Amino acid sequence: MNTQHDVIVIGGGILGLAQAWTASRRGFRVLLLERESRAMGASVRNFGMIWPVGQNAGRPHEIALKSRAIWLELQQLGVVEVETCGSIHLAYREDEWNVLREFTALESHPVKLLSREEVLERHPLVNPDGLLGGMYSDTELRVDPRTASLKIGQWLDSQENVTCQYNTPVTQVDFPHVETATGKKYTADHIVICSGSDLTTLVGERFAASGLRPCKLQMLKSKPQQGLPRNLPHLASGLTLRHYTSFLPCQSLGALKERIQKESPELDQFGIHVMASVFPSGDVILGDSHEYGDDISPFDKSEIDDLIIRELRKLIRLSDWQMTERWHGIYTKHPNHLVFEETFDGGVHAFVGPGGAGMTMSFGLADDAWNRWI
Ligand SMILES: Cc1cc2nc3c(=O)[nH]c(=O)nc-3n(C[C@H](O)[C@H](O)[C@H](O)COP(=O)(O)OP(=O)(O)OC[C@H]3O[C@@H](n4cnc5c(N)ncnc54)[C@H](O)[C@@H]3O)c2cc1C
Repeated sequence: MNTQHDVIVIGGGILGLAQAWTASRRGFRVLLLERESRAMGASVRNFGMIWPVGQNAGRPHEIALKSRAIWLELQQLGVVEVETCGSIHLAYREDEWNVLREFTALESHPVKLLSREEVLERHPLVNPDGLLGGMYSDTELRVDPRTASLKIGQWLDSQENVTCQYNTPVTQVDFPHVETATGKKYTADHIVICSGSDLTTLVGERFAASGLRPCKLQMLKSKPQQGLPRNLPHLASGLTLRHYTSFLPCQSLGALKERIQKESPELDQFGIHVMASVFPSGDVILGDSHEYGDDISPFDKSEIDDLIIRELRKLIRLSDWQMTERWHGIYTKHPNHLVFEETFDGGVHAFVGPGGAGMTMSFGLADDAWNRWI
C-alpha cells in the first residue's frame, strides 16, 4: 500500500472513481476512501444507461462522449462489460412524433428516425399498439451498475499508484489532512470530496449554500424475460422528452408538455417519465420518478410504482409483469451546473451532484476538472 499520496478522493461512487481514474492517469498517487464496504449509493441503484443523447449540444454532449470513450476503454482493459446498445425514443402520440422529427432535423445529435416497422424489428418488447415510430441513437451504452463500481474500484486498487480503502468514513477535512472515524490522518496536495447525497458530514456549510438539491427516484426490476437477444437498445417514452434538456430547443415540446400536464397531472407531480433497459440476464430495469426536496421519505410510494407500470404497459410487452425488486436511489443536482464544484483552502475540491447523469458524465467531468486544477 502506498503511504504517500498526492490526491485523496473521498467517496467510492462513480464520481469518486472517475476522479481516482483521472488523477491516476495523470501520474498522481491516489488514495480513495469509501465509508462503506462497497459503493451502495446512487451509483449502484441506477439504470446503467450511458446517455449522451440527453445532454445539450456543445460542452455537455462533448463531456458525455468523452465519458463514453472512457467506459469503452474500461471494457478494453477487461474491467467492466459494456454493451453498445444505443437507444430508441418511442412515439405513440402525434406531439411526441413532432418533437422527435424536430429534434432529428436540428442535427445537433447523431440520431435518425425509424418507421414503426423498423422499431419493431429492432426491439421485440416494443408494444406495437398505436406506435407511430421512433428515434434511434447509437451513442448510448449499457453497464451493470450493481457491479461496475466494485470492479472499477478493484481494478484501480490493483494499479501501482492507487489505493482504494473501504470501510473508512472520513469525518473531517482540514487541508492538507483528512481524518477518518478511527482517528487516522492522511495528507495530500489535493483532497476531492465526492460524497454523493451526503451533504452534511463534510463541509456542510458549503453544501448548504451551494444550491444543490436532493432528488429521490423509484425503480423496479421485472422477472427475467426469456429468449431475448443481447444488446437490445434502451427504450425511452414520449414522457422522457420533457425530462432531458437536449430536447429543450424543440418548439414542439411545449404542446407535448401542455398535453401531459392536462391529461395526467399525476405524472408531473411525481416527475415520472419511463424508460426500460434489458440486461443480458433478461432482467428488465424499469423506472422512474423524481421527487425533489430535502424532506425525502425513507418509504416508497406504491402509487408511484403503479403509475410507472401503467405508463410502461403502453410502451412494452412483458411476458410477466411481476416485479422481483423495487428500490429507490437519491442523487443531488445543481440547478445550473453539470456538477457542483468549489475549490477552497488551496487544495480541497468539493465535487458533487451530477444529478441524473452521473454514469453518463462522471469520467468526462473529472477529466475537465483536472484540466483546470493543474
Ligand atoms: C434511480 C437512479 C437512476 C439513475 N439512472 C442513471 C442512468 O441510467 N444514467 C446516468 O448517467 N445516471 C443515472 N443516475 C444518476 C447517477 O446514478 C448518479 O449521478 C451517480 O451515481 C452519482 O454518483 P456519486 O459518486 O456522486 O454518488 P454516490 O454513488 O452516492 O457515491 C457517493 C459515495 O460517497 C461515500 N461517502 C459519502 N460520505 C463519505 C465520507 N464522509 N467518507 C467516506 N465515504 C463517503 C458514500 O458511501 C457513497 O459510496 C441515476 C440515479 C438514480 C438514483
